[in-house]
Amino acid sequence: MRLKDQIVLITGSARGIGKEIALTFAKEGATVVISDINGESAQETCAEFIRMNLSADSFSCDVTSMESVKEMVDKILDKYKRIDILINNAGITRDNLLLRMRECDWDAVVSTNLKGVFCCTKIISKSMLKARKGKIINIASIIGIVGNAGQANYSASKAGVIGFTKSIAKEFASRGITSNAVAPGYIQSEMTNKLNDKDREKILSSIPLNRIGTPKDVAHVCLFLASSGGDYITGQTIVVDGGMAI
Ligand code: NDP
Repeated sequence: MRLKDQIVLITGSARGIGKEIALTFAKEGATVVISDINGESAQETCAEFIRMNLSADSFSCDVTSMESVKEMVDKILDKYKRIDILINNAGITRDNLLLRMRECDWDAVVSTNLKGVFCCTKIISKSMLKARKGKIINIASIIGIVGNAGQANYSASKAGVIGFTKSIAKEFASRGITSNAVAPGYIQSEMTNKLNDKDREKILSSIPLNRIGTPKDVAHVCLFLASSGGDYITGQTIVVDGGMAI
C-alpha cells in the first residue's frame, strides 16, 4: 500500500492511460479522483472502481478552462481538504503535415496538452504550497523530445510540457513539491489498436524491446515517482518507450 490515504487527481482519466494510472494508484491505497471532460464516462469509470472496493470519486472538468478547473478543485478541496498528487494526463492529437494543419488543430492541441497543464498546476499548487508537500507528474511524450512529421502541434505541446515541468521543479522545490514528466513512446491504445499489420511491424522494428508498451508500463513509472521512491527526483523526464528513442 504505497499510496495509503493519498488524494490523487488524474486528468483525462475516464479511459486509456489515465484510467490505468488511476487503477494502479487506487490498488495502492489512494483515493483517486477521476476527472474528465466527459463527466458521464468519468462517472462510469468511478463506479467500476467502487465495484472493485477501491476508493474513487469523479468530476467533470475541461482542463483548457481555468474556470472549470477552479470549480472542480474547489469541490475536491471542500470534500477531501487536500490534493497530494496531481497527474496531468489529459491530452489529444490532431495530426497533419504542417502545410495542411489548420489553426484550430494547432490551438486545440496546445490548449489541451499545454495550457491544460498550466491551468491544473496553477490552481492545485496553491494548496500544495500551503501544505509544503506535493507531487506533480505530467504525461509528456517522446514526440516532444524527438519530434515527428505530421505532429508539429503535438510535439510542440509536449516539448512545452517538459520545459514547464523543469521550471516548476525549480520554483517549488524549496516548498517540498516535486515536478516530473513521464514521456511514453508507443502505448497500446484505441489508436494503436487500429494499426494494420504492416504499420505495426514497422513500429515494432524501431522498438529495441520489440513490443508496444502498455498503459501499465506508464502507470508503474508514475507510481514510482508518486511514492516515496521518487522523493529525491525532480525536474526529470522519464522516457517509457522500450528503447525507441535511444
Ligand atoms: P485517450 O484519448 O485514450 O484518453 C485521453 C482522455 O483525456 C480521454 O478520456 C479524453 O476525454 C480526455 N480529455 C480530452 N480532452 C480533455 C480536456 N480538455 N479536459 C479533460 N479531459 C480531456 O489518450 P491516451 O490514454 O492514449 O493518452 C493519455 C496521455 O498520454 C495523453 O497526454 C497523451 O498525449 C499521452 N501519450 C499517449 C501515448 C499513446 O501511445 N497512447 C504515447 C505518448 C503519450 P474524451 O474521450 O471525452 O475526449
